[in-house]
Amino acid sequence: MKLLARSPQIGTTLELAEREEYYYPNNIGRILLLALEDILGRHGVNALLNLAQHPELVNNYPSSNLEYGVTFSQISDLHEALDEMFGQRVGRAIAIHAGRQTFRRGLKVLGPILGISDLALRALPLGIKIKIGLNVFAETMNKFSEQVVRLDEGRDHYYWIIERCPFCWNRHVETPSCHLAMGILLEAAEWVSNGRTFHITQTHSIACGDSACTFEVRKQPLS
Ligand SMILES: [Zn+2]
Repeated sequence: MKLLARSPQIGTTLELAEREEYYYPNNIGRILLLALEDILGRHGVNALLNLAQHPELVNNYPSSNLEYGVTFSQISDLHEALDEMFGQRVGRAIAIHAGRQTFRRGLKVLGPILGISDLALRALPLGIKIKIGLNVFAETMNKFSEQVVRLDEGRDHYYWIIERCPFCWNRHVETPSCHLAMGILLEAAEWVSNGRTFHITQTHSIACGDSACTFEVRKQPLS
């Protein structure tokens, strides 16, 4: 039986039960589609939605609210359709670009609500800013969506660990390929550090049989 969580309140009561489906809030789904539209145009996104077998979203994007209306399956199918439409190499590049654009658009909408719009400008050491930024970002995702993510730290790396991942939901792949998450993370790290570039690698994926989708963020920036 499919258990539905239509609001964060209901979601909380069910969080211990493994469900067949989980949700993103409408506005994040909307931002993701608009980010893809920045790259592919409206016609391109509509073609992608049809290929992903989600015609219900064609010219019918989710509303700008925090209600849980976008399924992990929709996000994952859309991600997979990028590879089908463009091939793995170009599909990856588009997904990373769209992830970056999702963060930029999301920050405009959610930044003022969260009070982190000026984090990048604060006079703090770079390492502290990255850590605060990634932690706030993880808390935000956990609070407003059913994605589950935590930040861990080693000597040379931060670890962005997605324990329930919409990007590869119900997928099976040979190499980790949650490229939308990679793009979002790359942009988040660049933004909070005022444009420094960080080396980020996805080392594990639930779609490969791992327990989480893990990204290594090297602490020392490339530039
Ligand atoms: Zn994943």
